[in-house]
Amino acid sequence: MTFLLVARQSYHCSVKRPKSTRLRHPAALSAVRGRIILCERCPRLRDYCRAVARDKRAAYRSWTYWGRPVPGFGDPDARVLILGLAPAAHGANRTGRVFTGDGAGGSGDFLMAALHRAGFANQATSERRDDGLRLTGAYIAAAVRCAPPGNKPAPAEIAACLDHLEAEVAALPQVDTVLALGRIAWEAWWQLLGRHVPLPRPRPAFGHGATVDLRALGAGHRVATLVGCYHPSRQNTNTGTVTAAMYDAIFQTLPGALDASAHVRGVGPSMPDTR
Ligand code: SF4
Repeated sequence: MTFLLVARQSYHCSVKRPKSTRLRHPAALSAVRGRIILCERCPRLRDYCRAVARDKRAAYRSWTYWGRPVPGFGDPDARVLILGLAPAAHGANRTGRVFTGDGAGGSGDFLMAALHRAGFANQATSERRDDGLRLTGAYIAAAVRCAPPGNKPAPAEIAACLDHLEAEVAALPQVDTVLALGRIAWEAWWQLLGRHVPLPRPRPAFGHGATVDLRALGAGHRVATLVGCYHPSRQNTNTGTVTAAMYDAIFQTLPGALDASAHVRGVGPSMPDTR
């Protein structure tokens, strides 16, 4: 099976990775990012993102909101793909980077602190696109790339955005583990898998720490492991449903976590700024 190795034709990018051309796949990833940013498939979401960007929140009146679909962010050589739900209206839809600008105590900082403790991030906060954040060994994307009203994308919108996820993963040739932040991300990954392989019945249930060996589904696909993790929303973190210790217990088992030979804090590749 090749679906995670070859991008869809509409993206016009080859992600096969000859040994001698290690620098080719960031270019493929940039092409995918460009497609995502220009996407207009979901009129409801596009209208909402533009309206939020126009009206703004009072605290961010001086900002020029991003207001466009938000592509993934991180290390082109990541082994771990972290899959969230969707941009927040005044977070990533404002800043243009996934899990960025959610404010003090918000989901972006909670996630980034965990990534920092596990050695994947060079800093523990995620405030704006030019804040110096770099990820090593990890890449963050969302199942839906446009902020949805009420944080609730429609099933058709999730389905429409799967093409972007598929193309982005295809352009990340080292990814072998997906960490799904929340049930919607978990289900989106199964939906993507279902395009290519018969899904198990019953489908493995989402849970914090739930781990599925995907190789059993069919030979050949390189994403071997799916791990479930509660979403770091304020609702979860403020109520203690999600704690830092719970995140550490999962993050420190991910491939490459706290591996000194692979992680040099403060140094490492990051995606080019697409402003
Ligand atoms: S949610 Fe995804 S498919 Fe829909 S408009 Fe945004 S980027 Fe395009």
